[in-house]
Amino acid sequence: MSFNLAEGAKRAVEDLKELAALTADENGAQRVAWTPEWQKARDWFKAKAEEMGAMVTIDSAGNQWAKMEGETEEAVAIGSHLDCVPNGGGLDGALGVAAGLEVLRQYHKHGIKPRKTLYAVNWADEEGARFGYSCLGSSAASGSLNIHELMGRSDVNGVKFEEAVRTYGVEPANMLDAHAQMDARNLRSYLELHIEQGPVLENTDKDISCVYGAAGVERHSIEFTGQSSHAGSFPTGMRQDAFLAAAQSALAFKEIALKYNAVCTVGQVRVEPDVVTIVPGKCVISLDQRTIDPDDLKKMHEEARQVVEQASKDHGVTAKWGKICTVAPQLFDECLIELCKAVVEEQIGEPTAMYSGPLHDAVEMASQVPTVMMFVMSEGGLSHCKQEHTPDDKLEKGIQAFLWLVDKVVNIGGI
Ligand SMILES: [Zn+2]
Repeated sequence: MSFNLAEGAKRAVEDLKELAALTADENGAQRVAWTPEWQKARDWFKAKAEEMGAMVTIDSAGNQWAKMEGETEEAVAIGSHLDCVPNGGGLDGALGVAAGLEVLRQYHKHGIKPRKTLYAVNWADEEGARFGYSCLGSSAASGSLNIHELMGRSDVNGVKFEEAVRTYGVEPANMLDAHAQMDARNLRSYLELHIEQGPVLENTDKDISCVYGAAGVERHSIEFTGQSSHAGSFPTGMRQDAFLAAAQSALAFKEIALKYNAVCTVGQVRVEPDVVTIVPGKCVISLDQRTIDPDDLKKMHEEARQVVEQASKDHGVTAKWGKICTVAPQLFDECLIELCKAVVEEQIGEPTAMYSGPLHDAVEMASQVPTVMMFVMSEGGLSHCKQEHTPDDKLEKGIQAFLWLVDKVVNIGGI
């Protein structure tokens, strides 16, 4: 063991508090990507990494890479993101970056050259809070970024994407160069520590968990078209109420979610003409379905279509589907999952493992290098808000287990 785990975990928590003092206000964390507060966080990351003898470079997508040479060129990357949603929490992303910095600090402090070369990575714009594109920096590095989708987009204040990123030295046309730049780094594994952002660990009384993959997503819009009519004169049984068809579908989606132990969410509802005295002639809803099993995801989607067909029939309306996006489920690396479960078991007595509902930078990385994540519980399951919180002792437990995992990955050959 090259690390002093307890001491390291305490210091990483102190780092998080230091970062919060620098970039948060009474409404929460303010490190939205491509803003001066975000740059402050990036300057903080660079200064910390350099203090530990690492060399910090920025790739073509704006990702920061802090490199510490090892005995071999084989490299391990440890990362997450310092950007956040507006009025966000202090831990989402920042926890994983602080853990990466602590790894560098451990080697620096103890004067040990790591067996493999290390990179602590701060991915740019994971949240997509301003331009609606999640995992921007890591998808450029993985090569999956569709830059044409982003060109011409503006934020709520009318600032163009191109303009915003150029302010921070990133040329949109060159962002995908980050892929070749990452290839040249000879990465053999990628590790990410993150808060859960949900209530599952807390509800099962677990403080930390191995994360063995991330859910796939089927996201669609469904437009129900019926007939607007007078709310007073038209008998109930004769109506073509588009909203009722949507509502019946939404309730049935919940049953599908329960059946597959998955999630189905209707997050948007738009009723037309949206008048108190008119039976809705049109209703457009969104449907977001997620699970880790590709067959289940397929079945869940098929069943949703059947449900919509039935509801349409019941209410005499028609339904039109529109695809918003599909993301295949991503399983992480088997060997790293085993190692991660082993350290989780050492730490909490059980090899807890779960999959992630939200996307993370690690999902982008998993298509490129063997990857695994670890979660720390979130109090009340809250995230993306200023109430986001994990008690210090639980954070420390997570950081300790994660440092332990890093130590194993750095010192074991062949991974
Ligand atoms: Zn995050």
